[in-house]
Formats: sequence, structure tokens, C-alpha cells
Amino acid sequence: MPCLQTFTRALARPAGPAMRHLQPSSTAVSLPSIQRQLYSSKHPKGFEPPTAEELEELRDRAQEFTRRVITKEVAANTDKSDAFPNEIWPKLGEAGFLGITVDEDIGGLGMGYQAHSVVMEEISRASGSIGLSYAVHSQVCVNQLQLNGSPEQKKKHLPGLIAGTSIGALAMSESGAGSDVVSMRTTAKAVNGGYLINGSKMWITNGPDADLIIVFAKTRPDAGSKGITAFLVEAKTEGFSCARKLDKMGMRGSNTGELMFDNVFVPTGHVLGMVNDGVRLLMEGLDLERIVFSAGPLGIMQAAFDVAAAYSHQRKQFGQPIAHNQLIQGKLADMYTKLQASRAYTYATAKHLDEQGVIRTQDCAGSILYAAERATECSLDCIQLLGGMGYVEEMPASRLLRDAKLYEIGAGTSEIRRMVIGRVFNKEYANA
Ligand SMILES: Cc1cc2nc3c(=O)[nH]c(=O)nc-3n(C[C@H](O)[C@H](O)[C@H](O)COP(=O)(O)OP(=O)(O)OC[C@H]3O[C@@H](n4cnc5c(N)ncnc54)[C@H](O)[C@@H]3O)c2cc1C
Repeated sequence: MPCLQTFTRALARPAGPAMRHLQPSSTAVSLPSIQRQLYSSKHPKGFEPPTAEELEELRDRAQEFTRRVITKEVAANTDKSDAFPNEIWPKLGEAGFLGITVDEDIGGLGMGYQAHSVVMEEISRASGSIGLSYAVHSQVCVNQLQLNGSPEQKKKHLPGLIAGTSIGALAMSESGAGSDVVSMRTTAKAVNGGYLINGSKMWITNGPDADLIIVFAKTRPDAGSKGITAFLVEAKTEGFSCARKLDKMGMRGSNTGELMFDNVFVPTGHVLGMVNDGVRLLMEGLDLERIVFSAGPLGIMQAAFDVAAAYSHQRKQFGQPIAHNQLIQGKLADMYTKLQASRAYTYATAKHLDEQGVIRTQDCAGSILYAAERATECSLDCIQLLGGMGYVEEMPASRLLRDAKLYEIGAGTSEIRRMVIGRVFNKEYANA
């Protein structure tokens, strides 16, 4: 296999002046200086939004990567064996894909959320489950650390995570605290020099393989949302264990675990952000995560369209390709339209964040709400278009459906996303 070339922004930049300045699009509103500074808090220092050419180049690189590394066989085997192909982590690192939103001086690409969505889409097109583990590592864990880690924490953990030599996860959910995550029962009790964590976490992506886990625990159990803190927990710490790997209907190979914390000591220096400020990290993280995660269903929808369009033009019944029937054309047209509409919403939301530095909670929730439900519909259509071949595991259609469904549940369910959007309007119209 040829050596993978690391993607750097310099490679994608057109020749010309070294410094590129953002040209606001005709619809962009010019922002007061105070608001402009906002994007630096969600982006690496000196961030410049990527150009369309840079994003196109990155997409080409991601496609070239998936063609070579995440082949159809790798995707099918990952699903069948329900085991993550761990050799892929350092290859993702070598390609530059594990630190897309991270400072360039620490080894990241410093390219922002549109770029991360592009790579997430292409990886998910090749394999939904590898895409899920990828996004949890590179966005949910790495980007939290990038945004909230101290210089020492970043220096210690980011190089390994970006290189793919260590694996990251984030643990907020518990068996009794899913949608109502603030009701979590895991505690972190202050002791001499740090905290003792006790409790358990459920459904943690990459949990069985992770070296570093961002863990949310109650530092003031009586203070509700104001008493939760995020900690960096190394899996090698005494008292930490993965009780079991969960056997899932889809996203097989993206290893999901139940994690146990039995008097796990973490030094004070392992607090991520500020003590009792964990809910802010969690909620802001969820907004950003929803943008990048919404590229997961985009990739799955594209994969469903790829399979359905090719099959329906090859498969002949009644003497002609089935795609020459209007009912089949209608299904393909619906799949294509849903994909394009979802894609437009996701990338518009990511572009808004990259170029204006503003997180629009309703659009972060809206992009993934819309894309996830359309992906389930498109993968069902794909199965129907393939007839009997859609129902057997020789073709990827059933895997696409099983993988797509997760996006209506993980990172907040469809119902919770609708609630989040509704609450924004309740605030906006409070005095109407
Ligand atoms: C494969 C997978 C990977 C995951 N990875 C991670 C991870 O890496 N880290 C992590 O912390 N968590 C992870 N999760 C957990 C995920 O975030 C939760 O499953 C999700 O938030 C839903 O919580 P729950 O499963 O407890 O469902 P519940 O909260 O019990 O919800 C059950 C049903 O009730 C509905 N419901 C609940 N409350 C309301 C309400 N107020 N109004 C209307 N309907 C409501 C829900 O929408 C849902 O349909 C993962 C889950 C899965 C399945």
C-alpha cells in the first residue's frame, strides 16, 4: 500500500499571497468586532475559514483515503466481526484527519467545522461505524480538549490523539441518565490533591478501546446542572474498567462500552475547564458535535444512493432496467433530493459557524435532526429498490439502515432535538 500523504492546508492553498483574508460573501452581514472575536473561542488561534478550493481538495484527499484504506471489504468485515480495525487509527492520523479543528502548531489542520464535516461525510460514506468512532475521537474528545484544555493538558494528550496512537472517548450518559443527562449519578468527591470518581457510564463509543476519556461527574450532587465537572481520565488509572462491550443492531465495529469507576483518583490538574462548569462544556460540545455528526447521515445517504442508483440501472425486469420505471425514478429522485437538502443545511450551519463564529443551537440540532431522519428513509428506500438483494447481507443495504438509525438516537434523540429547537423559539418569543 502506498504511503499516505498528510493533508496540510498549505497543500490545498492556491499559489499567491501567504496570508489569505476572508472575503465575506454577498449575503454575509458585517459583524461588530466583539462578535468577530467569538469565532476564535471555537476555532484555533489565527483561524481563517477554508476556501471552497481547500474544502474540495480535502474531500478529494478523504475519498482517496477511503478508497485505499476503508474498502468495501473492510466496511463489511467491520460490521460482520463487530470489531474496530484498530490499524486504521494511525493511518487516519498520518493523513491528518484526527486533528482537523486543532491548532496547527500542535499538529492539527486548524481548518474548522466545514472541513471536519467533509471528512466525516466521506468516512461515513465508506463505513458508518468507522465514521462514528472517528467523530467521537476527533470531534467529541479531541475538539473538547482543544477548546477547553489547559496548555499542559493539550501538550500531554493532543499529539498522541492526533497521531492516532491513543484513542479518545467522552462519557456523559448513564443507564439512568440519557436524555436527562444532568440527572447523572456518577460523583467526583474532592480529596487531598484531586478527586475520587465513583459510578458508571453507559453506551460510551470507543469506551472499550479508549486511552483517554472525558468523564462528566457530579462535584456538587445537590447543585443540579451547576455541580457537574469534566475530568480527563486515563484508562490505565486504577479503579477504571470497561464492564462490557455492548452488542448493537448497527454501527457494529464502533465499539460501545459500559464503563465503571471504582474510587478512580484523578489529580486536580485533570479537571477539564473549570470545576462545576461541566454542563456548559457539555452543552456547547453537543452543539458542535451535532454539526459534525450530521455529516454521518450524509455519508450514509450518499452510500445508499450509490448502491441504489447503480443497482437499479443494472437490474433488468420486464426487459428493461428497473430504473426506467417511473416509480423507481421517483424513489431515486426522492433519495437524491433528501440528500442534497440535508447536505445544504449541514454545510450552511458549519459555514455560518466558521465564518461568523456564531453557534446557532437550533441549526446544530436542526441539521442532524433533518439529516438523520432522511438517512433512515433513504436507506429503507435503498432496500426496497434492491428487492430481495436489499434484504440479504451480501449487499450493504441492511447495514446502511442499521447504521443510519443510530443518528436518530445518539447525541440526543430526535425528540430531544425538536425540544431544543422549540426552546430556542420559546426564548425568542418570550415577550411576544
Ligand atoms: C451506539 C450509541 C453510542 C453512544 N455513544 C455515546 C457516547 O460516546 N457518550 C455518551 O455519553 N453517550 C453515548 N450514547 C448515549 C446517547 O447519547 C443516549 O442513548 C441518548 O441521549 C438517549 O438516552 P437514552 O438512551 O437513555 O434514552 P431515554 O432518555 O431513556 O429516551 C427514551 C425515549 O424517550 C424519549 N424522551 C425522553 N425524554 C423525552 C422528553 N422530555 N420528551 C419527549 N421524548 C422524550 C427519547 O427521545 C426516546 O425516544 C450513545 C448511544 C448509542 C446508542
